[in-house]
Amino acid sequence: MIKFLDLTAQYKSIKKEIDTAIKRVLDDANFIGGKGVQELEKEVAKFCGVKYAIGVNSGTDALFLSLKSLGIGPGDEIITTPFTFIATAGVIANCGAKPIFVDIDPNTFNINSSKIEKAITKKTRVILPVHLFGQMADMTVIMRIARKHNLCVVEDAAQAIGAEYKGKKAGAIGDLGCFSFFPSKNLGAYGDGGMIITNKKKLAEKIRLLKNHGSSPKEKYLNLSIGTNSRLDALQAAILRVKLRYLSRWSEERAERASYYSKKLKRVEDIITPLTESKRNHIFHQYTIRTKSRDKLRKYLEEKGIPTMIYYPLSLHLQPAFKYLNYKEGNFPEAERVAKEVLSLPIYPELRKKRQNFIIKKIIDFYKKEKKNFNSKRGKT
Ligand SMILES: *Cc1c(COP(=O)(O)O)cnc(C)c1O
Repeated sequence: MIKFLDLTAQYKSIKKEIDTAIKRVLDDANFIGGKGVQELEKEVAKFCGVKYAIGVNSGTDALFLSLKSLGIGPGDEIITTPFTFIATAGVIANCGAKPIFVDIDPNTFNINSSKIEKAITKKTRVILPVHLFGQMADMTVIMRIARKHNLCVVEDAAQAIGAEYKGKKAGAIGDLGCFSFFPSKNLGAYGDGGMIITNKKKLAEKIRLLKNHGSSPKEKYLNLSIGTNSRLDALQAAILRVKLRYLSRWSEERAERASYYSKKLKRVEDIITPLTESKRNHIFHQYTIRTKSRDKLRKYLEEKGIPTMIYYPLSLHLQPAFKYLNYKEGNFPEAERVAKEVLSLPIYPELRKKRQNFIIKKIIDFYKKEKKNFNSKRGKT
């Protein structure tokens, strides 16, 4: 049976190291904070080429605390994409600020940077691009706009750890970059986890306070600001430290599988294979095709034992949760169209060639059948 993602196979491939790392934490019995978390923070900072990294509870908290550290609150507007996971815009609302959506570029699924400037008002404070599916958004343009209008940039790099844009790592270009260690992400923990990276000392210090009840690092039970409990725990850090050593290799193996899919599927007329823009290193958190017969293809593959996923079936501006923003259908035509056409195929380092070939064959079979049906309906065959 083919799995959409095979975390069991991944665990088996590094079992010894993981088990040793976990045992060490259990023997230590230092479950919150500690040396392992600090070491992971250093290693992630080095990996991303930034000065500071702060472990937090989740990718959602990474985004939330980033906005909090910038003082975002009621009356502020944050520009982001409507074609993303709900957390991206949810945290904006949870800060009391207003999400302002900008349509996407259907070729990359990322925010269309040429449409950002029109969305800027006097209330705009932050641009929050998402590096969807493992490919970075147009950071040069986004940073230029942000500087011109005196805005901050928070990168939602939850799906893009290790991705690059002109040689810079995801999360390392904006004021703050946010990662998620949700188990299915490219660098996944065995539970929840997240991290914020930055080169700004002041922001790093603020976040360190915020994530631990504003507690003074020098004096116990002295609280300098109102914060919350959002810590990365020692077990997750130990697991992540093992996995980080494999991340680059895993990313390469994902990219290899992606280019194999594209090579084999690009001749299929009704499929648009994902585009990798120039000067980018795509880490293929997802391999997402577009097709007009998405739902039919998905059902067909399911019958053949091939699981697929739809990321995302409904653009955020049409979600019931954001009804109060008064967006309507037609506001972001590209995001709306793509939501009806996208299909993500299984992609992970442990996906064997034989299985990938089976998936490819079944997809090609489906379109052959479709074409036959279509032609016979028109009386051609
Ligand atoms: C996973 C994800 C998040 C949230 O991360 P969690 O760790 O699940 O809270 C935010 N944004 C994007 C784009 C994501 O994919």
